[in-house]
Amino acid sequence: MTPSSPSSRGRVAVLGAGPAGMAAALGAIKAGHDVVVYERYREARPAGNILNLWPPPLKALRALGVDTHDLGAPTHSEFRNVRGKVRVDVKLDEVVKAAFGGGFIGLLRPELYERMLAAIPPGVIRFDSQVERIEQDERAVALHFADGSTAEHDVLVGADGIDSLVRRTLWGDAPKREHRLHIFGGFTFADVEGTIPNKCVLSHSRTTQGSWTSIRHNGRDGHQWWVLTSTDPDAPAPADLKATATELAEEFPAPLPGLIAATEAQNVQRWVLRDRPALKQWSKGRATLVGDAAHPTSPYAAYGAGMSIEDGYFLGVALRGVDLTDLAAVAAALQSYEEPRKPHTAKQVQMAYVLGKVFHHAPAPLRPLRDFFFDHTPFLQKMAGDSNPREINKQLALIED
Ligand SMILES: Cc1cc2nc3c(=O)[nH]c(=O)nc-3n(C[C@H](O)[C@H](O)[C@H](O)COP(=O)(O)OP(=O)(O)OC[C@H]3O[C@@H](n4cnc5c(N)ncnc54)[C@H](O)[C@@H]3O)c2cc1C
Repeated sequence: MTPSSPSSRGRVAVLGAGPAGMAAALGAIKAGHDVVVYERYREARPAGNILNLWPPPLKALRALGVDTHDLGAPTHSEFRNVRGKVRVDVKLDEVVKAAFGGGFIGLLRPELYERMLAAIPPGVIRFDSQVERIEQDERAVALHFADGSTAEHDVLVGADGIDSLVRRTLWGDAPKREHRLHIFGGFTFADVEGTIPNKCVLSHSRTTQGSWTSIRHNGRDGHQWWVLTSTDPDAPAPADLKATATELAEEFPAPLPGLIAATEAQNVQRWVLRDRPALKQWSKGRATLVGDAAHPTSPYAAYGAGMSIEDGYFLGVALRGVDLTDLAAVAAALQSYEEPRKPHTAKQVQMAYVLGKVFHHAPAPLRPLRDFFFDHTPFLQKMAGDSNPREINKQLALIED
């Protein structure tokens, strides 16, 4: 173990090399600290394929030094009913459109990882490093690894996902919240009739969501899609994912069924949706949380990776000029990081949970009433179409140019 340096250049450990960990590492490096990322796997492993990012995480990535040129396809998003009637038009400000080309930017997860990894200096990420135990005192945080070794740092950032060891160590264990939903998603670069360039269409039938967006991946234009419906989370996965997705998409208009038909079976994946209720406090002493470790976010929000990136950026800002050997200074910096993040992330996580309930768990007799209400009142537009651009503007304004 190395002793603490008296300078303001401190030693930061980040646990996990997902979007949150990579962003936190870049943020802490920019703040002038020495950073090590510990990742249990042999490589940074993208958990899944499909992904959309809103403009704030894109801006945060740029501020963190990540090359975002030609990353993803910017889209104009709409919510529709199963017959194609537009219920919500997400109207972004013209300034935002001019800066980012559009809103919900469609990409595949591996390219995000490649771009973030390329910005991280060599040697910062230590792969094959499974952390098994953490302890801290006034002076430092000690990490204990599966191979019996230990390391000491001034600050620990838990970026270790929904089953976070850091979260458990700081705040105890609690059960996950089951959404009783599952999602099937895939992508294709085939030409499919009915697609519209730079478009995202999220459609709901009485029981199922069937959606698609434009994507751009390593310079190629294509589309990703997903279908989502209720399930018993303990039931085994269907044997043929593509066949199940095809069946669920039958009631939706073009291009969704065509996109699924054009997708290679190996590019179809399934996830069961879960999250955890919001924590009142993230940081304790010299340790804090970012990303899914802090606010596990269901794919229904389509913002978990985005908020993870934002967390990393804001944590970096909070750690600027802080002497990490000084516990009081560290605690104050970590608190200033988490305070504004908690309401924003809790709102997104809860909104995803509620929308999942409304669209997929309403009792059968209420579904026609719900759909009549959504088709003929501005409620959904106000809730999703108008509040979303406001939230985007608010986050964008907090991120430095
Ligand atoms: C189907 C699906 C669609 C989604 N769509 C979107 C979307 O469109 N937009 C969006 O923004 N988000 C989306 N999300 C959510 C997003 O994927 C997550 O919120 C995001 O990956 C969280 O990032 P993270 O870095 O916090 O955690 P993770 O990505 O889970 O990374 C955690 C890392 O920590 C490592 N780790 C864990 N424990 C240890 C340990 N003890 N020692 C060492 N390393 C450890 C893991 O190996 C992993 O690399 C989607 C998710 C799914 C499943």
